[in-house]
Amino acid sequence: NERGTSSPILPGDWLGMIGGGQLGRMFCHAAQSLGFKVAVLDPDPLSPAGAVAERHIRAAYDDAEALAELAGICKAVTTEFENVPAASLEALAGHGALTRPDARAVAIVQDRIQEKAFLTRSGVPVAPYQPIENPAAIVSAPDALFPGILKAARLGYDGKGQVRVSSREQALQAFHDLGGRPCVLEALLPLDHEISVVLARGVDGATVVYPSATNAHRDGILAVSSVDAAAATGDVSRAAGEAALQIAEALHYVGVLCVEFFVLTDGRLIANEIAPRPHNSGHYTMNASVVSQFEQQVRATAGLPLGDTGSLASVVMLNLLGDLWFEADAATAREPDWASVLAVPGAQLHLYGKAEARRGRKMGHVNVLGADMAQAQQRARRVAAVLG
Ligand code: ADP
Ligand code: MG
Repeated sequence: NERGTSSPILPGDWLGMIGGGQLGRMFCHAAQSLGFKVAVLDPDPLSPAGAVAERHIRAAYDDAEALAELAGICKAVTTEFENVPAASLEALAGHGALTRPDARAVAIVQDRIQEKAFLTRSGVPVAPYQPIENPAAIVSAPDALFPGILKAARLGYDGKGQVRVSSREQALQAFHDLGGRPCVLEALLPLDHEISVVLARGVDGATVVYPSATNAHRDGILAVSSVDAAAATGDVSRAAGEAALQIAEALHYVGVLCVEFFVLTDGRLIANEIAPRPHNSGHYTMNASVVSQFEQQVRATAGLPLGDTGSLASVVMLNLLGDLWFEADAATAREPDWASVLAVPGAQLHLYGKAEARRGRKMGHVNVLGADMAQAQQRARRVAAVLG
C-alpha cells in the first residue's frame, strides 16, 4: 500500500505500461495528449500499444532484465490486463517504480476464488458459489449450485474457460475437460440484464465514478454497451456505483477499476467480476464523458488529480469484431465500409491498428452519441446496418 501522497509525476516524464493490446494503446494516446511519454512492455513486435509508444520493450512480462529497464525509465507503471504476473509488479516495485495498481490488488482479482472471497468479505453480494479444487468438492457441492457454471479460477476472459453444467456428472466432466485446474462452481442466476461500473481511485484516496453502462454480450464477448445520460443517477446505477466504490476502498486500490454486475429478474444486484484496469464497457467514456477512462488511468498512475466523469451525451458503443471483415462464409478478409460509418451523425470510430482480422478478435469500436438515448440508438442501428 502506498501511504500518503508522494509528489505527482508531471507531463514530460515517462509512464510505464505492461501489456501492448488495445487498452494499452488507448492509454498511450491519452498519456501522450497530456504530454507524457510511454514505455510499453510486450513481447509482440506488432502490438497495438508498442506501435504508438515512445519506447517498446519487446520482452516477456516476467523478463527480469526488461522489468529493470522499464523501472529505470518510468517512475510509475500500470497495466492493461489482469493476467500480468503479480511477481512482475513486485519486481518493478523492488526496483523503485510505483506500481498502480499494486501487486496485492491484482493478485486478488486475477483469481476467481480469491476474488469471490474478497467480495464476500467486503459485504458485496456474489452468486452462490463453491471453490472447486478436486472432484470431491463437486460431489459435495450444494444442490443449489445446479444448474451452474464451472469457471476456471485463472486466465478466463470473453467467456473462455467456463462451462455451463446442469448436473454433478456434467460438472465432473467439465472439471476434467478444463484440465483439473482450480475452478469455481457458481449457480446460474436469472439475469434481467448486465451492467458495469468504471471508477478511478487516486493515491490520496479520492475517487470518481462513471455512470453504469448496460452491456449485451454475443457468444460470451461484449457486443454493445449503452449509457442513457438521463438515467445515470437512477437507483440501480447509484447502487452499483456505491458497491464498486466499496470494493475499491477495501482493496486500497490506486488506478482505474471496473466491476461487472448482474441485475437479477427480482432486481437484486450481484457483483460478477472485477477488472483492475480500464474496461471494454468503459470505451464510451472516450467520447461521451468529460474525461475518458484512459485519461483517468494516466492521472491516477501519475498521482495527479482525477477528472470529471460527467456525461456529455447518451451513447451506444458497438464493438467491432474481426467477423465484420468476413462476408458470410468468405475465407478472405475485406475492409468494412468506414466512410459510411463515419457518415452517420454522432458516430466516432476507433480502430486498434491490428495487422490481421480474425473472427472473435476485437479490432475496434464505434461510439455513437445522441442528444438522448432514442437518438443514440437510432443512429447506432444505422451504423450496424452499414456494417451488415
Ligand atoms: P469472463 O471472464 O469470460 O467475462 P464472466 O464470469 O464475466 O467471464 O462470464 C461471462 C458471461 O457469462 C457473463 O457476462 C454472463 O452473461 C454469463 N454468466 C456468468 N456467470 C453467470 C451466472 N452465475 N449466472 C448467469 N449468467 C452468468
Ligand atoms: Mg466478464
